[in-house]
Amino acid sequence: MLYLSTRGHADRKRFCDILLAGLAPDGGLYLPESYPQVDDARLTQLREVYARQGYAALAYEILSLYIDDIPAADLKALCAKTYTRDIFGTDAIVPVRKLGEDGLLIEALSNGPTLAFKDMAMQLLGNLFEYELARRGEELNILGATSGDTGSAAEYAMRGKHGVRVFMTSPEGRMSPFQQAQMFSLQDENIHNIAIEGVFDDCQDIVKAVSNDHAFKARYKIGTVNSINWARLLAQVVYYFAGYLQATKSNAEKVSFTVPSGNFGNICAGHVARQMGLPISRLVVATNENDVLDEFFRTGVYKVRGAAHTYETSSPSMDISKASNFERFVFDLVGRDAARLAQLFGEGIGKQGQFDLSADPAFKDAAGKYGFVSGKSTHADRVATIKDSYERFGDMIDTHTADGVKVARENLAPGVPMIVLETALPIKFAATIEEALGREPDRPAKFDGIEALPKRVVVMAADVQKVKDFIAQHCR
Ligand SMILES: *Cc1c(COP(=O)(O)O)cnc(C)c1O
Repeated sequence: MLYLSTRGHADRKRFCDILLAGLAPDGGLYLPESYPQVDDARLTQLREVYARQGYAALAYEILSLYIDDIPAADLKALCAKTYTRDIFGTDAIVPVRKLGEDGLLIEALSNGPTLAFKDMAMQLLGNLFEYELARRGEELNILGATSGDTGSAAEYAMRGKHGVRVFMTSPEGRMSPFQQAQMFSLQDENIHNIAIEGVFDDCQDIVKAVSNDHAFKARYKIGTVNSINWARLLAQVVYYFAGYLQATKSNAEKVSFTVPSGNFGNICAGHVARQMGLPISRLVVATNENDVLDEFFRTGVYKVRGAAHTYETSSPSMDISKASNFERFVFDLVGRDAARLAQLFGEGIGKQGQFDLSADPAFKDAAGKYGFVSGKSTHADRVATIKDSYERFGDMIDTHTADGVKVARENLAPGVPMIVLETALPIKFAATIEEALGREPDRPAKFDGIEALPKRVVVMAADVQKVKDFIAQHCR
């Protein structure tokens, strides 16, 4: 299996070569040359593997279709080490439950170490990185910026791993107390928390500035783990299969998925699963007030938002101005025409901040051929949905999942189960839960008292040179 760039001007590469890379050299995103097909017989076989051997074995089956430069026994071992009851809380790893009797199901993706779905991919990435770096005799220093979920998922995935250090910047005092405690209580020597005196954008600007210093980047082997990483997306494909297999008894049945979306990484994995032949009826994009994606799927116009129109909401992990993985879907939508794609994202987004496909026949395919629909949810919707789910079904859901449930209900079809992906647990967003329910959210026992643990964090001015000096000091 080789991987190509959406912009068409990069060499084709194998999995392990793009594992440690970010964007392709031509500015595009990597995708497989083609999607391996899962026919009826193969799906039946996967159903048996999942039933008899569990999630890790299913993960191996899917990943091995895309990864041919890691020996089978090693890849199997990496999957087995990643998807355990110990790390994800249950043998099912991603258990599906009913929310009422109208066909709405919830797939729990948030029982990993940091209580958000990002653990599903990041835990695998940590093991893949350690494996590949050891094989090459190399080291990697991951530099990132986080306002919450991504940073903690990355730190919990990379803690204690050989050959990897993490330098994670975050805006000082802006994350929830729970999120700060999660990250700053890590005492591992290879994890470095840097609280920047500024806002999230300052952190991102620092990361960009350091990465643009090519000499520094090469000398200190700086890398990232952001959501455009293909390995992350691939790991997510597995739970679409697991959700489908739990919700159905035969391959003749179809299901739909609703996905609380920000950077389009999660739902893009659903698109890949559907392209492989998984019987998915609809893929429903749920956005919050930051509705660039909802606007596109309704109108065909994709318009990046400026800072003044990017809102801070109570589902903060979906607060985006543009969706960094969207380019992958648009590439398929325009028939994998790399020149066209490069024009839409290079000229269109790069120069005008938008493109318009409303008059293009391909736009019809988004809903038709590819099954995409969308909807939007606001703060009032979240509060009402959290309250309703708790009062009617005794089920406490987080703010992002609530956006999903709200939009899912608008897209129910008789006889087709609708699976909403649960992307975080309520404890991470306690303030809104209290607003909705008048009580504190449930707290998993292992997080009792984490706010009181000793913290390992340095506070720093928003100064690129200071961050560079810190990295240099801590790389021997
Ligand atoms: C990251 C995140 C999302 C958005 O996922 P994308 O892959 O960026 O679309 C939604 N909910 C939660 C809780 C998240 O952490």
